Amino acid sequence: MTFEQDLKASVRTIPDYPKPGILFRDITTLLGDARSFRRAVDELVQPWAGSKIDKVAGIEARGFILGGAIAHQVSSGFVPIRKKGKLPHTCVSMEYALEYGTDHIEIHVDALQKGERVVLVDDLIATGGTAEGAIKLLRQLGAEVVAACFVIDLPELGGADKIRAMGVPVRTLISFE
Ligand code: 5GP
Repeated sequence: MTFEQDLKASVRTIPDYPKPGILFRDITTLLGDARSFRRAVDELVQPWAGSKIDKVAGIEARGFILGGAIAHQVSSGFVPIRKKGKLPHTCVSMEYALEYGTDHIEIHVDALQKGERVVLVDDLIATGGTAEGAIKLLRQLGAEVVAACFVIDLPELGGADKIRAMGVPVRTLISFE
């Protein structure tokens, strides 16, 4: 099996979660497999090995697990981007598009310095609404978003193209139709 086939096989698919008709791609099985977890982290950071990354920003909640491991790997700090009302200090908030309606994500106002080089991390990109909101937040604080990384792409939903159109290079490892 190739690396990609191997990694794809480590993702579990749950039908009708969280609602009927949705095929949920569950990465807990990938994370629980030592080889898959290590390789996913190694492959996600590979283009930036050796270049200076000041911060890795992870999107709640699965982006925290991958982002923490990536931050350790590239010797950078880690910054959480969370759902509204979860962070304790003063926040900057951004509205983002959901499939139906909108929600807000937040970051601590002092999480980044102007000009810092940031890599954004989440487990999966679908429509790209969440990542778009996160990039706007990071840019509002003056960060340079050097890349956005996701283990899984759902290319039919166009999220990766949306993020590239914002001028941010996108790295994904596997895709599901
Ligand atoms: P988007 O904003 O790109 O439409 O949705 C991406 C966000 O929803 C990510 O934060 C991701 O964790 C979550 N998400 C949506 N569908 C799935 C899925 O099937 N599996 C997982 N693991 N996360 C999903």
